[in-house]
Amino acid sequence: MRTYGHWIGGREQRSPDADVHVVRSPWDGREVSAIAAGTPEDVAAAVAAAEQALPAWRALKTAERGRLLLALAARMREERGLLAELEEHEAGKPGPQSLREIDGAANYFDFYAGLSAGAVGEVLDLGPTMHGYVVNEPFGVIGVITPWNAPLNQAARAVAPALLTGNVVVVKPSEFTSGSTLELARIATEVGVPAGVLNVVTGDARGAGQPLVEHPGVRKLAFTGSVRAGIQIGRVAAERILPLTLELGGKSANVVFADADIQAAAAGAARAFTANAGQVCSAGTRLLVHDSIHDELVQALVAEVEKIVPGTSYGHMTTQDQLEKVQEYFEVGTQEGAVIATGGTVVPGGRLVAPTVFTSVTNDMRIAREEIFGPVLVVIPFSDEDDAVAKANDSDFGLAAGVWTRDLSRAHRIAARLEAGQVFINDWLTGLVEGPFGGMKNSGYGREKGIEALRHYTQTKFVAVRL
Ligand code: NAD
Repeated sequence: MRTYGHWIGGREQRSPDADVHVVRSPWDGREVSAIAAGTPEDVAAAVAAAEQALPAWRALKTAERGRLLLALAARMREERGLLAELEEHEAGKPGPQSLREIDGAANYFDFYAGLSAGAVGEVLDLGPTMHGYVVNEPFGVIGVITPWNAPLNQAARAVAPALLTGNVVVVKPSEFTSGSTLELARIATEVGVPAGVLNVVTGDARGAGQPLVEHPGVRKLAFTGSVRAGIQIGRVAAERILPLTLELGGKSANVVFADADIQAAAAGAARAFTANAGQVCSAGTRLLVHDSIHDELVQALVAEVEKIVPGTSYGHMTTQDQLEKVQEYFEVGTQEGAVIATGGTVVPGGRLVAPTVFTSVTNDMRIAREEIFGPVLVVIPFSDEDDAVAKANDSDFGLAAGVWTRDLSRAHRIAARLEAGQVFINDWLTGLVEGPFGGMKNSGYGREKGIEALRHYTQTKFVAVRL
């Protein structure tokens, strides 16, 4: 078992009498790590370390910060074995998936380092007697709060653009999956990122999360997690006029038209709801199918889904609560009159759930409206384009959407009408680093990833000079 303190001011900080959270592997229940249960004092120490590091860090040229991000990415790849092992045993992901996720997390640092030259301002034309320009300044201390489903990825996608643009960061990862984020901060220090620029305080929402949101030194917050917590954080942020990025849940629709490549749509839809055992905010968990191909598509889909092997294709429900929540939805769906076409069971050993497809579903059922966060798909028929768009948009969420058709005019027409932060046509979840990512409606606001994220980690200042 690995034991971790917080990472504050470029070194591990642990007090011998601090409480700890012990993380057990979803695979076999063995103890994987013990992390410190953070307190408001730990958060204050991390924010103070970050504030101290800020002046020198923001004074560096962007390209110099970019070079450090490149070094960080390279070292993450060198240490991918350790990082992946932590994700495998804390989050319950299969080994090969964990390795891919570490590489994906490193890609954010490469990507934002590559944007060094693009992180510039503008000159405005104010006429010959004035000189006007806009600079993009860092906020200062950024708080980053992450959930347990893709811990290193979610930390990296916020930390990389925040650091490139001259901010300093305090991350509060989920208490279930803190190891890889703590190792990221260690690696950052080892490759030369100055002490205090990247800090990690571990613990739960009450001990460490809420104090981070409330700390007056935090000048912007990037939160990924549930709608419930997003609302609580939004209330506190409103009192403090604290700028927020909220990446919340989803109930994303794949819309399959009669002219689609049925095999490709079935395979894509199967991937969309089973990746990471459905513990993905942007999972495609509603499948809207034109009436005329409903039975054919369900048959192809079930054949695809039955090739998926829990424990190999994807891993465990990370927490026991999450496993129980998914099981409850099996009951809810059946009671609502939906029919299980495949799955609906828990696989013995650990917290594995069989990939599950519900048919005979209407869009008003709870299984069609609520985020389950497990490998559970609902299939809903539609009659024409208007009906498809109405059903896709009839959701509290608006994170991702998919359109499957061979008619590209229709694809663009539908993409324009869908209320979702990203729309994939004849594919699902691509451009994971390059594409701006975030939601509409209850899925949140602000954007991570892509060039767009640079705007969310900076505030503009307009300067006008009389010549
Ligand atoms: P959660 O909201 O309970 O917790 C997320 C993080 O926030 C944890 O670190 C937790 O300790 C902290 N937290 C919770 N309440 C807080 C508060 N009031 N103040 C400060 N910190 C607080 O979510 P979870 O159960 O860890 O993760 C699952 C949820 O995350 C799902 O609903 C899923 O949709 C969502 N999610 C969204 C995205 C996205 O990018 N949109 C990505 C992954 C997960």
